[in-house]
Amino acid sequence: MKPILTVHGVKVYGILDRKLYKDMKEVEKVTSKEEWRGIRGIYCAHNLDIINHNPMGVYFAKYEASKKEEEFCLEIIINKRTTLIRKLPIIVIDTNICRTKEYLQFTLLHELGHHVDETQNPYPLEAGSIECEMMANRFSVSRCGFLNVNFDTLLHIPLVKEAIEEMGYDLDYR
Ligand SMILES: [Zn+2]
Repeated sequence: MKPILTVHGVKVYGILDRKLYKDMKEVEKVTSKEEWRGIRGIYCAHNLDIINHNPMGVYFAKYEASKKEEEFCLEIIINKRTTLIRKLPIIVIDTNICRTKEYLQFTLLHELGHHVDETQNPYPLEAGSIECEMMANRFSVSRCGFLNVNFDTLLHIPLVKEAIEEMGYDLDYR
């Protein structure tokens, strides 16, 4: 599979509306190369289906502990073709849901927030916990603040309003 672009050297694969390329690339301005270090790829897929919920994005850091090494493999279907992922961590974005600058940048930065926690905190937060999601939202919201993201469109996402209020952004800024 050929990458469609790169973000701080991390290759981006899959399906993304061309008008959003610049918005994805813009995330470089508010992140450092160091924060992306270790990420093996960003995969843009349509209709992620992960244990009965449809997330906007996912950060995959490790395989289930119960799996044997030869079973370490993740299937991502892009353009009806199955891609097997054997090297983690990766970020997967549902670009069917993330169709706007706001959604795309927020989600990408949220997933990067999980990676930064996983790689830079001596005791990473428990995956899926409220603390972990709040941390990723705080990370994302703080960076989105520099990208002129209109937060109004994101307020229905769980814990986003809380993160924005905590970061001190005035929700009635207009
Ligand atoms: Zn998350």
